[in-house]
Amino acid sequence: MKILIINCGSSSLKYQLMDMNTKVPIAKGLVERIGIPGSVLNHRPADKEKVVIETDLPDHVAAIQVVLDAILHPEHGVIKSLNEIDAVGHRVVHGGEKFSASVLVDEGVKKIITDCIELSPLHNPANMAGILACEKLMPETPQVAVFDTAFHQTMPAESYIYGIPYELYEKYHIRRYGFHGTSHKYVSQRAAALLNKDIADLKIITCHLGNGSSIAAVSGGKCVDTSMGLTPLEGLMMGTRSGDIDPTIVSYIIDKEGLTAQQANDLLNKKSGVLGVSGVSSDFRDLEQAAQAGNYRAQLALDVFAHDVKKYIGSYAAILDGVDAIVFTAGVGENSPTMRESICNTLSYLGVSLDDEKNKNARGQEIDISNPEAKCRVLVIPTNEELMIALDTEEIVAGQ
Ligand code: ADP
Repeated sequence: MKILIINCGSSSLKYQLMDMNTKVPIAKGLVERIGIPGSVLNHRPADKEKVVIETDLPDHVAAIQVVLDAILHPEHGVIKSLNEIDAVGHRVVHGGEKFSASVLVDEGVKKIITDCIELSPLHNPANMAGILACEKLMPETPQVAVFDTAFHQTMPAESYIYGIPYELYEKYHIRRYGFHGTSHKYVSQRAAALLNKDIADLKIITCHLGNGSSIAAVSGGKCVDTSMGLTPLEGLMMGTRSGDIDPTIVSYIIDKEGLTAQQANDLLNKKSGVLGVSGVSSDFRDLEQAAQAGNYRAQLALDVFAHDVKKYIGSYAAILDGVDAIVFTAGVGENSPTMRESICNTLSYLGVSLDDEKNKNARGQEIDISNPEAKCRVLVIPTNEELMIALDTEEIVAGQ
């Protein structure tokens, strides 16, 4: 079986064509500047040279057409006919409260994804555009929607209800939803496999630390709490997002700086986080370099980030009543031994004990970086959201 995985942003589109026998992509790529002059496709067939195609792409239909043309191309293509694609799996950011699992797309599903645009105005319109474009170009191929929010729908009410009037939840669905669900689900399942244990018996804290960061508490394979909220702004301090702050700061800076609500929103989403604290960069590599060279604010940003992660790990260990494994994933979690060490250096009370050599050398592969006697295992597991989307899509299409 071959599955096309589509991840549409407002002006970009990532894709992979996955061979489900090998679980490896036979082609992948990125379209950028959709609807903006200078559109470009970078197409990477697995066993051939990468190609760059520059062509005008006014909308997502044109973008998906150019992707399909690249996949079918006599020279840099990887399949001969569109019939070889058995299904399309779409990443959809927000599924609201309606979806606790991936679903086959039909008219009802499209209506709910459209209704959720209110909750995710930046992502859901693009995700819908991708679905509609594929329906137009591949009308016979089943399409599956895989939601970032779905994995977190198992959270109990005490995790997702905010301390505001309950009527606001009833009227506007204001509650914690959580994001990065596909990643948290994937790495928690891989953690159980790596530990050779049944996931039903495990309490796991998954730390997705990238440009956007979130943490989840996973008990018996089900999410019981997560750090992102109504939107991906809540929780840990991130690359450019503030994470948790006193809500009064918003009206205070609106007043003091003469900002509109939208400008305050932009400040918290795009100019805050480690970028805002350090004044150096949102990229953790730049921060580690600047901190090493003695930059106080770069070091401060790294310290605040590590402190935030520890705080969430501690609170989730309390909610879970113990923790069997802590998983690090995504750009920072997978690649920064220094950050992993800074986070873990006060977690001995949980039974964490890192093997320094293993931590230093862990990059790009699944590995347990704990000392043999450690009660709580610490794992580095590269995330693979595309594979998780493909696996969900395969399961749904096979069960049709
Ligand atoms: P996104 O949320 O955009 O998917 P990623 O998961 O790709 O982000 O993570 C991007 C972040 O990972 C960047 O801040 C980058 O600096 C960081 N990162 C990547 N490699 C390293 C490394 N070797 N050391 C420290 N940070 C790294």
